[in-house]
Amino acid sequence: MTTDALTPHSSPSPSSTSHSSHAWTTRAVHAGRDDLAALGLHTPPIDLSTTYPSHDVLGEAARLDEFAAGHDDGGPPVYGRVANPTVRRFEDALAELEGAEAAVAFASGMAALSACLLAQVAAGKPHVVGVRPLYGTTDHLLDSGLLGTSVTWVSPEEATSAITDKTGLVIVESPANPTLGETDLRALAEACGPVPLLVDNTFATPVLQRPLTLGAGLVLHSATKFLGGHGDVMGGVIACSEELARSLRQVRFVTGAVLHPMAGYELLRGLATLPVRVRAASATAAELARRLADHPRVDRVHYPRLGGAMVAFETSADPVALISSVRLITPAVSLGSVDSLIQHPASLTHRIMDEVSRKEAGISPDLVRLSVGLEDVEDLWADLDGALTQALR
Ligand SMILES: *Cc1c(COP(=O)(O)O)cnc(C)c1O
Repeated sequence: MTTDALTPHSSPSPSSTSHSSHAWTTRAVHAGRDDLAALGLHTPPIDLSTTYPSHDVLGEAARLDEFAAGHDDGGPPVYGRVANPTVRRFEDALAELEGAEAAVAFASGMAALSACLLAQVAAGKPHVVGVRPLYGTTDHLLDSGLLGTSVTWVSPEEATSAITDKTGLVIVESPANPTLGETDLRALAEACGPVPLLVDNTFATPVLQRPLTLGAGLVLHSATKFLGGHGDVMGGVIACSEELARSLRQVRFVTGAVLHPMAGYELLRGLATLPVRVRAASATAAELARRLADHPRVDRVHYPRLGGAMVAFETSADPVALISSVRLITPAVSLGSVDSLIQHPASLTHRIMDEVSRKEAGISPDLVRLSVGLEDVEDLWADLDGALTQALR
């Protein structure tokens, strides 16, 4: 069904809708769906069109030029690589929840980050200032310079002095992966001056933290994690100003790293339950963090002051044996699903970093990372406690 394409909804300016007076959690349920009732629909239509008919060749050509320049007028997209009405719904909703003018969705979190880097290279600002630790593949992408960027690794206090006239982006993750270290985003954004600060907000989600309100220029999500929330959809998204969004749409148009419409549908559905999922998992994670802190085989627990569903801990037990001993929790990379996952960053997610960089980033070989899901806290504790007890060195 392509009702969306026939009835263009307005371009992203979510705060100007008549619904903006509703609470944030209410908007999480309704954002991206405000036009449905008028269309006679209850759930968002999924538009799988790869192309869109038009008898007005010249009009179509002019619109294509606009799309190529990064503008999205909200009308029929001409071609599936340009835009998609179902994906737009997710973008509009996420922009609203992050308090952004616009959002641009991609096939994965790494595709979203790649678009940011390519856009800054195209603008003649190939230098990145990176605050470690970052997601392992992000670290690798920056450290390898694979897309033509160069990086200076800094602590938040060193950001200002590392910025040059070629710096296009400062990148930080808070809480960070996998140490859950927190950065004062307001102070860092200030230290960046006119250079946009990109915050990877995958761990916190807009439920716990909205970096744009703290002065950040761009927010990145691996939508694969909490936004989707069920471990069955990959995606990435950047929330930012309309001006930055245009440069990202330009890159997406030529690289083709688009989010599939089915994924757009699933991610929009995920947003509706995001506040409930994140709050419930956070309450369980906070309790597990408390209990782990008292466990004789746990040396140190990392749990953000901000809260959240992620817990990391350093164990005196054998971390590899520990992970192979869990029964309810799934030993797997990734995070943010309804079910709990556990992994060993030094072996898996951060393996791609060299050992020295890992050490500098505070990623100990004894560190274990837990993504807490929606299971009962007592069942999760029994599984963790049992595995810790079994996993002697
Ligand atoms: C998973 C993840 C990414 C990369 O996202 P993909 O969807 O896997 O490409 C980036 N940052 C963080 C914090 C992540 O957890």
